[in-house]
Amino acid sequence: MDFRLTEEHEALRSSVREFANEVVAPVIAEHYENHTFPYEIVRQMGKMGLFGLPFPEEHGGMGGDYFALCLALEELARVDSSVAITLEAAVSLGAMPIHRFGTDAQKARWLPMLTSGEALAAFGLTEPGFGSDAGGTATRAVLDGDHWVINGSKAFITNSGTDITALVTVTAVTGTNPDGSKELSTIIVPSGTPGFTVQPGYSKVGWCASDTHELSFDDCRVPAENLLGERGRGFAQFLRILDEGRIAIAALGVGLAQGCVDESIKYARERHAFGRPIGNFQAIQFKIADMEMRAHTARLAYYDAAARMLAGADFKRQAAIAKLLSSETAVDNAREATQIHGGYGFMNEFPVARFWRDSKILEIGEGTSEVQRMIIARDLGL
Ligand SMILES: Cc1cc2nc3c(=O)[nH]c(=O)nc-3n(C[C@H](O)[C@H](O)[C@H](O)COP(=O)(O)OP(=O)(O)OC[C@H]3O[C@@H](n4cnc5c(N)ncnc54)[C@H](O)[C@@H]3O)c2cc1C
Repeated sequence: MDFRLTEEHEALRSSVREFANEVVAPVIAEHYENHTFPYEIVRQMGKMGLFGLPFPEEHGGMGGDYFALCLALEELARVDSSVAITLEAAVSLGAMPIHRFGTDAQKARWLPMLTSGEALAAFGLTEPGFGSDAGGTATRAVLDGDHWVINGSKAFITNSGTDITALVTVTAVTGTNPDGSKELSTIIVPSGTPGFTVQPGYSKVGWCASDTHELSFDDCRVPAENLLGERGRGFAQFLRILDEGRIAIAALGVGLAQGCVDESIKYARERHAFGRPIGNFQAIQFKIADMEMRAHTARLAYYDAAARMLAGADFKRQAAIAKLLSSETAVDNAREATQIHGGYGFMNEFPVARFWRDSKILEIGEGTSEVQRMIIARDLGL
């Protein structure tokens, strides 16, 4: 058992840490305040190869592994979660379905632009009427000659409306299975396809510098060959994508939780009360010690889930545990870090206020905490 990082992973971690501190930190608060997408940061992340981390070199990737992506996400989220979720959604929800299930032609067409970060892809599963219960999918796709005709809508879709979004992969009902259940398939819809409308961005509590939209499909026609993988495999495909994605979200939560420790230590040394730094009070020291304990254990949980996944072992339960622990840790650490900052913790100019606003979604997105508990309980045979 050895949790030490390889030289390559350590080098990646330190270069992303430097990038987060020197490039992201100085400008992200302004993007957050103005709800603007940080195109220049994304461009530089593309140049660093971050969008290609877990993909093969033949498709423009870096030939790394999923754990490398997780390390990069942790380091970005330690400074800012909008940038981290942009990378997470682009890689694990956007490009990964094409890499895992796409035809050679789909991979050749889309992956080079996605792995370089020149373009982003989105994944549209959630709809206005359902999230946790994918059986509620109401968007329909009907084969009409050599085209799919899509009607319906998707809600809360990350990276779906930027100037560089190339496509969204949508899940849709394409028929009925022999047992009467819905046949679900996934279909690639390129941006700009007639009948595909990106609605205005949401006004969000957090992740304010990331891109999230509702999408409408109104007799939207795409070629039959835009079907991703086999017809009727949509359910199995997104379960696989979400299982992996939970490890990535866990890494993002650990980064936010660790950022709370960093900011709290800094502030506890600077801020004085009753004639001494607040860091001299045991009440503050214990809060920070607990925050570090939680971040450390959540990190071990995602390392374990990633190691199992890379070894080809079953990792569903471990990914759910890591995501659940990490998101609750992020919320707990953000609450305590804000408390340590007193009134300044409630001011948006302090990173901990951003961390506080960004933490809550981690208990909701890519499967709520209740859903993670259901997955763990089911895996235990309950
Ligand atoms: C900023 C943001 C970005 C997002 N990005 C994407 C994206 O890129 N692609 C995408 O497809 N989706 C995306 N989502 C959607 C997200 O994954 C869903 O919001 C999430 O899965 C929860 O679904 P819901 O909102 O419909 O809640 P619901 O499923 O309606 O749940 C409501 C509440 O009921 C609980 N609940 C539901 N069923 C059960 C049950 N059986 N037992 C106990 N409790 C239950 C839930 O845990 C929750 O507390 C995003 C959401 C946000 C806010």
